[in-house]
Amino acid sequence: MCPITRDGLEGYLAGKPDPRLQQHLAQCRECRETATQFLAVAEMVRSLRPAELLEPAPGFYGRVMDRIESQRSSSIWSVFLEPLFAKRLVYASVILTLFLGIMLFTSPKDEAVHLSSTPEHILVEEQPPVSLVNVDQDRNTVFVQLTTYQE
Ligand SMILES: [Zn+2]
Repeated sequence: MCPITRDGLEGYLAGKPDPRLQQHLAQCRECRETATQFLAVAEMVRSLRPAELLEPAPGFYGRVMDRIESQRSSSIWSVFLEPLFAKRLVYASVILTLFLGIMLFTSPKDEAVHLSSTPEHILVEEQPPVSLVNVDQDRNTVFVQLTTYQE
């Protein structure tokens, strides 16, 4: 295909041929045959196009929107009734409960309680260590003694 035909073929098929291309087609047999074949294909494609644009049946959009709305409104609550989702929710809850239980019973605080509940520890801890309450009581006692001190 000659360059002039390649450049002007689109206009030729659209029905607006370049005069220079028409002149070339009159002289060049190869380009004339190619252009004729392209024209035949373009005509066939054009014949496939429907005569008028297809319109959906009346009320089609309304029915589609109704369907979308009904599915949307039911899906919010029905998601909990879906067997697969409910099963997964139950599994996740059980695993979370087990995990929290393990965390609760293996906390360091609990270990300390268990250790101090052995007989040796109870015997050792019979003398209570000095606590903040005792310190406060001692302070109050000293304060009372100081304020009521009389020579
Ligand atoms: Zn040519």
